[in-house]
Amino acid sequence: MDMDYGVELGALSEDGNIEYNPEFWLRSLERRFFSDVIPQIAGITVEDHPAARVRFEPAENRIYLIRSLLPFPKVCKIMILHELIHSKLFKVNGDADGQEGAAFEAEVDRLWEEGVYRKLL
Ligand SMILES: [Zn+2]
Repeated sequence: MDMDYGVELGALSEDGNIEYNPEFWLRSLERRFFSDVIPQIAGITVEDHPAARVRFEPAENRIYLIRSLLPFPKVCKIMILHELIHSKLFKVNGDADGQEGAAFEAEVDRLWEEGVYRKLL
């Protein structure tokens, strides 16, 4: 199955607003590029608070995304990929590599080789 992770902008709701689907973005990217990581992310929470930041919370196994990013799906997907890397490193090594060191860079290289950024950059 091929996935279109680069171009969809969201679906129009009945009231004419665009509805974005970060859960779909997460699951598509997770299934395609992190299928060997167990357990799967519990879910993605969209936050409104201006002081919020995009992050992976290990204790909850959950990704948090800032609502103001939703109109920019490519940015959201890049951020989700970033947090999926932290999630993988935490689950594989017990260390999410919050400083984005060598382990993190190795994952970026892997994703680059697999072509995920070709449609996102
Ligand atoms: Zn990070």
